[in-house]
Amino acid sequence: MAVRNLEGRVAVVTGAARGIGRATALLLAEQGARVTIGDLTLDPANDDVFADRGIRQQVCDVRNLQSLGELIDGAANEGGRLDVLVNNAGIVLVGQVDEIEEADWDRCLDTNLKAAFFGVKYAVPHMRKVGGGAIVNTASNAGILPRAHDPVYSTSKLALTGMTRSLALCHGPNKIRINAVCPGPVGDTGIMDADLATQADREAAIKQFIHASPIARAHGRMISPEEVAQSILYLVSDASQMVTGTMIAIDGGKSLGVPPV
Ligand code: NAD
Repeated sequence: MAVRNLEGRVAVVTGAARGIGRATALLLAEQGARVTIGDLTLDPANDDVFADRGIRQQVCDVRNLQSLGELIDGAANEGGRLDVLVNNAGIVLVGQVDEIEEADWDRCLDTNLKAAFFGVKYAVPHMRKVGGGAIVNTASNAGILPRAHDPVYSTSKLALTGMTRSLALCHGPNKIRINAVCPGPVGDTGIMDADLATQADREAAIKQFIHASPIARAHGRMISPEEVAQSILYLVSDASQMVTGTMIAIDGGKSLGVPPV
C-alpha cells in the first residue's frame, strides 16, 4: 500500500467548496489528514465525496474574524491538534483605480490578505502546542508579477507573498513553515468560470489563457486544480521540512516574464 504522507495530521482549508481548495481538501484527506473545510457557501454536491473521506464542512466567511477563528479552533478541538492550514479563499477584482470604491478594496484585501494574516494568528497557538506546523497561502501569478487589469487583486496577492516571507521568518523558531503557491490560470474553478462568462468569445479566451503559459501551451490545456493541490501537498508534508518562505509558481512558466511567441 502507498505511504500516506499526512496520517494523523489535522488540517483546515478555507474556500474549499470548489476549485483549488476543494481539490486540496480531497488530496490532503486522501493522504490521511483529518480535514475541515470552511467556505462562504457549502455545496451539497460535495456531501457524499467529502463524507467518504471524513472531510468536515463548515460555513465560514473568512472576512469575519470570529467566523474564521471558530473554524480553526473548532477543527483543532475536534481533531485534538492542528498541523496544517491552507489559506486559500480568494476573490478576483478587475477594475482600474478610478472605478474602484472603498468597499471593493476592503472586500478584496479582507478576503485575500487580512484573512490569511488572522488565519496564521489563530493557527499558530495550536501549532506551537504540537511543536510545529505548515501553512500555505494561495497567492497567484499576480503575487509575482503585477498586471494592468486588476491592480487591487495584484496588490492583494503581492502583499500576500510578502507577508508569507515575513511570517515565515517570525515563526521559523516554532518550526511552523509558511509558504505560498502562485497558480497561473486554473481551469475548472469558480474564478475562471466567472471570468470566461464575461468573455464575448469563450473559446478564444481559453486559448489566450493557455497561450500565456509556455508549458500549458505545449500541453494544449489549462492548469488543473489538482496540479495546484499537489504542490500544496508537498508544502504541508514532511518532504518540505526545510522549506519556508517560498513561492511555488504553478503556472507553466507564465511568470517568467517573456511571453511565448
Ligand atoms: P473558486 O471560486 O473555485 O474557489 C474559491 C472559493 O473561495 C469558493 O468556494 C468561494 O465560495 C470561497 N470564498 C470566497 N470568498 C470567501 C470568504 N469570504 N470566506 C470563505 N470562503 C470564500 O476559485 P479558485 O480559483 O479555486 O480560488 C482559490 C484561490 O486560488 C484564490 O485565492 C484565488 O485568488 C487563487 N487563484 C486562482 C487562480 C485561477 O485561475 N482560478 C489563479 C491564481 C490564483
